[in-house]
Amino acid sequence: MLQAHRKKLSLLSLYNTDMLTSLLSEQELFNLLNIIRSSRNIIICSHRGPDGDAVGSSLSWAEYLRRLGKSVSIIMPNPFPDFLRWMPGSHHIHFFDKHEVEATKIIKEADLIFCLDFNSLHRLQAMGTAIENSKADIVVIDHHLSPNLPQAKMLISHPEMSSTSELVFRLIYQLGGYDDMNRSDAANIYCGMMTDTGGFTYNSNSPETYIIISLLLNKGIDKDKIYRNVHNNYSESRLRLTGYILYEKLRFFENRHASIFTLSREEMKRFHFVRGDAEGLVNMPLQVKGMKLSISLREDTEKDVIRVSLRSVDDFPCNKMAEEFFNGGGHLNASGGELPFPLDEAIKTAERAIEAYKDLL
Ligand code: 5GP
Ligand code: MN
Repeated sequence: MLQAHRKKLSLLSLYNTDMLTSLLSEQELFNLLNIIRSSRNIIICSHRGPDGDAVGSSLSWAEYLRRLGKSVSIIMPNPFPDFLRWMPGSHHIHFFDKHEVEATKIIKEADLIFCLDFNSLHRLQAMGTAIENSKADIVVIDHHLSPNLPQAKMLISHPEMSSTSELVFRLIYQLGGYDDMNRSDAANIYCGMMTDTGGFTYNSNSPETYIIISLLLNKGIDKDKIYRNVHNNYSESRLRLTGYILYEKLRFFENRHASIFTLSREEMKRFHFVRGDAEGLVNMPLQVKGMKLSISLREDTEKDVIRVSLRSVDDFPCNKMAEEFFNGGGHLNASGGELPFPLDEAIKTAERAIEAYKDLL
């Protein structure tokens, strides 16, 4: 008992000293609380192809709002990968592409919509129209560059953050919600921070990120298990798919320090592909010494487009390349987009992109 009391006291003295920079000014804090207070039915939505950060930030923000007595639904344009199914509360998320009528009804009834982890309604595809038609107030909480959501009543945009999950943690902390945060919320936030930084290997040099991790560990999360849940949970055929891509599909452009690989629907079928199986493959070519850019071109399983993923190191601007050549965008070192034509043409576009950026490679 005494020991527990001492532990609590020492933690309080450690964390009471404003170790985290406040994100919102007093005025912004006041505005956000007012917007939340005057709403009843809240929706949280995130981008198409939801990743760990989209799911983690949405789930933890939803729980915070529920503790304030709000009714909250999370809607995403399409399902998240199988390896995120363990995330506490994730089975309650609605998917617009699966239940459009029901999702549209929930959107219509909402009086407040939080847009998490995306910077433009384009990233919602068909669901974007339903959000645009809604009369609800919109509040954006995001860490992408160049937010383009003029509809928003409030924009909480912090591109310097590792992840939207970190941003949500800081908001909850500043709003005084840390004490009531439970282990599940902490696990969801940690998962978002971990996945958006490649397990704290990029975008993760801010000392405060590790203060936050320490605060999350105090909620009893098992960060090693979270890592295993996300990364060591694949099927045997996914491992063989990795081998196949690295051995047979990966093309290096050595004097350009770049690489391209492709993945067709036929190949996905052959390797019993499930949603999420392509995750992380695009990072692997960057393990080669001197590599600066990796491009993956994958036939989409739902639409007739090629999904493009780009990863780079140092200051090579993937996001500029994605905007210029692949109808997309993203972060400096991790971006994506899509091309509306077959794989062989997509390869030519990727080759042209590498040539166009040769001075930076
Ligand atoms: P991924 O390669 O994992 O699909 O995407 C990496 C990052 O690129 C995402 O976190 C997101 O910021 C960005 N991104 C991916 N796809 C698109 C897209 O179609 N449009 C835009 N603007 N950004 C994208
Ligand atoms: Mn993110």
